[in-house]
Amino acid sequence: MSTKDQINNIVIVGGGSAGWMTAAMLSKQLESNINITLVESDNIGTVGVGEATIPPIKTFNRLLGIDENDFLKHCNGSIKLGISFENWPEKNHQYFHPFGRFAVDFDYIPFSYFWNKHRAAGDQKPLQEYASAWHLAKNNKFSLPSNDKKSLFSGFDYAYHFDAGLYANYLRRYSEKLGVKRQEGKITQVNTHAKNGFISSVTLANGKNVTGDFFIDCSGGSALLLGKTLGVKFIDWSNNLLCNRAIAVQTSHVKPISPYTRSIANTSGWQWRIPLQTRMGNGSVHSSEFIDEQTAMDDLISAIDGEVLSEPRVINFNVGRREKFWHKNCVAIGLSAGFLEPLESTSLHLIQRAIMRLISHFPNKHCDEINAKQFNNLTTVEYEHIRDFIILHYKATQRDDSEFWRYCQHMAIPDSLQHQIELFSSHGHLNVDSSDLFKQDNWLAVLTGQNIFPESVAPIMAYKQKINLPKTMDSFHYVMTETVKKLPSHDEYLKQHCLFQ
Ligand SMILES: Cc1cc2nc3c(=O)[nH]c(=O)nc-3n(C[C@H](O)[C@H](O)[C@H](O)COP(=O)(O)OP(=O)(O)OC[C@H]3O[C@@H](n4cnc5c(N)ncnc54)[C@H](O)[C@@H]3O)c2cc1C
Repeated sequence: MSTKDQINNIVIVGGGSAGWMTAAMLSKQLESNINITLVESDNIGTVGVGEATIPPIKTFNRLLGIDENDFLKHCNGSIKLGISFENWPEKNHQYFHPFGRFAVDFDYIPFSYFWNKHRAAGDQKPLQEYASAWHLAKNNKFSLPSNDKKSLFSGFDYAYHFDAGLYANYLRRYSEKLGVKRQEGKITQVNTHAKNGFISSVTLANGKNVTGDFFIDCSGGSALLLGKTLGVKFIDWSNNLLCNRAIAVQTSHVKPISPYTRSIANTSGWQWRIPLQTRMGNGSVHSSEFIDEQTAMDDLISAIDGEVLSEPRVINFNVGRREKFWHKNCVAIGLSAGFLEPLESTSLHLIQRAIMRLISHFPNKHCDEINAKQFNNLTTVEYEHIRDFIILHYKATQRDDSEFWRYCQHMAIPDSLQHQIELFSSHGHLNVDSSDLFKQDNWLAVLTGQNIFPESVAPIMAYKQKINLPKTMDSFHYVMTETVKKLPSHDEYLKQHCLFQ
């Protein structure tokens, strides 16, 4: 490639989590001959939520060379071992979606087949009782996974809860050290080349022009570049994912800091509890079609513990994705690309994936269509996979105590999800691809948590008679229960390694 074709100037529009995560990773990965400018407007601000994550965030931070304890210290971070779903399939019901695996697979057979056989023989223990992440979570304990591959505590995983604003600031300091230039100002106009429609520059309210070869739209839900300027349409998924409004409020802690997120279903959606080191993040996610704002606010305030520390903030959102994520010389990353409600904390992950995919498909100035198409195809598959997983929580409810839940129970769902449910319901098999975010154990946690069980034991189990199943399952449970007693509390872990400064 001749150097005249090489991209030399990248403009990132937006300084929320998406903007600064992109700036940090690009400044680290594109080592030389590149200028990166990030434009953001303090007056517009950021969405300011996005406090719960999933395990791959660790890889993202590691690739940046960030020290875990330093990051937790500066971002008010705590540990997340999974999500406790309360009142989802029915009222007064709880299940846990743990990070990492359930017990161990043996003889190349998934652990769940053994569990299902044991269950069919009368064992009453829910699947989560065989997850070390759950044993840690329910006892408010934490210690890093064991390096001994034979230990049942080597297979759990974890992510973080943190303050999204502090994370953006942390990455801003990181990026600026590596040469990223921050440009404060509101963009009032986006300019395109007459010849090919590529974006050429953005004009700020003070008249200044910021030019570039390649533009990354991290402008949030407004999708200023990809949507408003290049006209890429939004595909709406609200027929299956009804929630379109959130109310967020912060409170003080009244209990030990739990190492997991809580998701508590109510009549028209659900509420989150996200524990940071010095405060609790609380929120209501609901559908404006089924509940008015004031009632949702009252429900939230009456349900939370602790002293209210912030004014409740209302956030309206649309669920769905852009028809394309990359068009001409512009890629959308973050809320500008799409949004799947925060139930499984997947948004920051989608940002991380888009950044890494952009790096592996990094273009020259011509931005070949075939390259963009590949990027778009891969991203579409990723969005649809996560969409299905989230819909499952709503569809597989037995609640019929409100119009909202009755709609969810009876709604038509994508064929791909219907197939997954039917496949699992028959013998406990699952359709999972190695590139999927949610793997065998994630689907298992939610399917069985929502009271969907295989009608019969996997046929292969008829040939697996050597193992003494009751003894093996009891020993797994015993070892998990006993090991956890010896581990430090989550509070102690934070205090010792990464106390918020
Ligand atoms: C209720 C709710 C809860 C969520 N919870 C989670 C969670 O637990 N976990 C998770 O992973 N994700 C969560 N998310 C998603 C997460 O918050 C976002 O994915 C993430 O914050 C990225 O946002 P963003 O950077 O794309 O957009 P924003 O934060 O909105 O940033 C947009 C940026 O663009 C700039 N901008 C816009 N227009 C202009 C203009 N004209 N000129 C100059 N600058 C401009 C703004 O100033 C800002 O800097 C949640 C989202 C919502 C709505």
